[in-house]
Amino acid sequence: MFRTHTCGELRLSDAGTTVTLSGWVQAGRDFGGLTFVDLRDRYGITQVVFDSDDDAALTERARKLGREWVVQVKGTVRERTNKNPNRPTGDIEILATEFQVLNKSKVPPFTIEDESDGGDDLRMKYRYLDLRRGPLQRNLMFRSQLALAVRAYLGGQGFIEVETPNLIKSTPEGARDFVVPSRLNEGQFYALPQSPQTFKQLLMVAGYDRYFQIVKCFRDEDLRADRQPEFTQIDCEMAFVTQEEVLNTFEGLTRHVFQQVLEVDLGDFPRMAYDEAIRRFGSDKPDLRFGMELTDLNAVARGKGFQVFDAAELVAGIRVPGKADLSRKQLDALTDWVKRPQIGAKGLVYVKCNPDGTYKSSVDKFFDQQALAAWAEAAGAEAGDLLLVLSGEAEKTRTQLGNLRLHVAREYDMIPAGVFAPLWVVDFPLLEWDEESNRFHAMHHPFTSPKREEVDRMLTGDHETMKSLKADAYDLVINGAEIGGGSVRIYDRGLQEKNFQLLGFTPAEAEEQFGFLMGAFEYGAPPHAGIAFGFDRLCAVMNGQSSIRDFIAFPKNNQGRDVMIDAPARIDAQQLDELNLELSIPDASVKPGQNG
Ligand code: ASP
Repeated sequence: MFRTHTCGELRLSDAGTTVTLSGWVQAGRDFGGLTFVDLRDRYGITQVVFDSDDDAALTERARKLGREWVVQVKGTVRERTNKNPNRPTGDIEILATEFQVLNKSKVPPFTIEDESDGGDDLRMKYRYLDLRRGPLQRNLMFRSQLALAVRAYLGGQGFIEVETPNLIKSTPEGARDFVVPSRLNEGQFYALPQSPQTFKQLLMVAGYDRYFQIVKCFRDEDLRADRQPEFTQIDCEMAFVTQEEVLNTFEGLTRHVFQQVLEVDLGDFPRMAYDEAIRRFGSDKPDLRFGMELTDLNAVARGKGFQVFDAAELVAGIRVPGKADLSRKQLDALTDWVKRPQIGAKGLVYVKCNPDGTYKSSVDKFFDQQALAAWAEAAGAEAGDLLLVLSGEAEKTRTQLGNLRLHVAREYDMIPAGVFAPLWVVDFPLLEWDEESNRFHAMHHPFTSPKREEVDRMLTGDHETMKSLKADAYDLVINGAEIGGGSVRIYDRGLQEKNFQLLGFTPAEAEEQFGFLMGAFEYGAPPHAGIAFGFDRLCAVMNGQSSIRDFIAFPKNNQGRDVMIDAPARIDAQQLDELNLELSIPDASVKPGQNG
């Protein structure tokens, strides 16, 4: 038997028991005749002591143990004289009577401790060592617990988990597809699913009216801290339901898992229409943990001879409470921040509402005290507050202010810790006009239904009407992160064809790509609707973190590489041959060290 107990299990009540533990050497310390070894496994750390007065030879051998060696120790549990209150096992130690080395270890390239000294790249390369560290172990255990809670809840609600294929045809979720060449079908390619969207709809046609799946999805996008090329969704679909029932079902799921895993009661989720979210927060995923809503200042700021504002479609601001005392340098830093290309504002106007009731602004030349007082009043600003104002084209200005709002809140620590603010954003537009490609995109995806009362307008309307169509589409937002999104679906062939047409598909293209789905709609498709949650992101948000990487056992880096296994990699000529593929890039163009 390798072990009678884990390294996290023994307590004072076990004193006197003879036990066997197996684990990794976290650290060793010598004190005169005593040698202490901390033995670690995923359950905890237990101190083992070797006493040379008891067994000099054994102690001598123990002194040679290195970090991360795998050992098995037999001994007796005893009370520690020098207790460690920070460890659950800190009241006891094992007085060793025997041990054996199960395996040696090289000196690890970084310390296996909660705060490691290893840089990101190194830890990614040795992910299996990084995964030994407490924070990552806790994250993965959290993830597992959350998945179990989701399955238990949905199972209890009559959902069945159905697996859908990974080798499929493109699903349009707005990203590029990863493709897989087919050996058996010369010159043809599978696409990896961006989501199981069409399959879950087909399951509804097949009569499985409550489906879910915890499933990998693949999207070839530029990567960020909260994006990975492969990520996990809790994917769900229901038939014979209204939007209301979908929202209630998945609000129930979300509340259940927060309660179950975090013991947090989320209460009822507020709802906000998309238009309102944009107007008040400059974002379709507003972070409701703090205020600083956007104020429209057109009425008080335009028409006063300040050319920049007069030419603007919108002048709007945010009130930053208690920050009238920001220094010149701090304000300059904010100005630089909004002028970065990612934000793209031309400049930033500020108004300080001084404690003595006067105002100081960066546009004093154009606006006197009375005019500034009118701004402050419009924004509900009081003495001591700061107003930050942007102007320009309405939509852009709102987005810029929404970003500034988040930046200021983070920069000046205005986001309360340990708070969860859930929100349903509803009534999304159906279509989104893209200036660059001069065509409409589906705001959610092409299978999303317009609101029922919008169908006639959709079938007959002009371009401007199309822009204003609303969909039965919804997002679940928590703390400013999009946790889930879904919609009521089109289940009628004619309407689906019309939607593809609006999106710029010719009938032949629509038929070629989605004929299977439209065909299925001709065989008794029930009304249906669904949602998918970003599972990795949910894990991160529940833990107050922004990087999903730390919740994925083996993630990719931000070049989309797995540096541990060194993927992607070249394949050999014979494999290319079998797949009838020829590379247009010569081998020499592969950067040295990129792969095998
Ligand atoms: N397939 C959608 C997505 O991945 C979710 C849904 O509409 O159910 O965002």
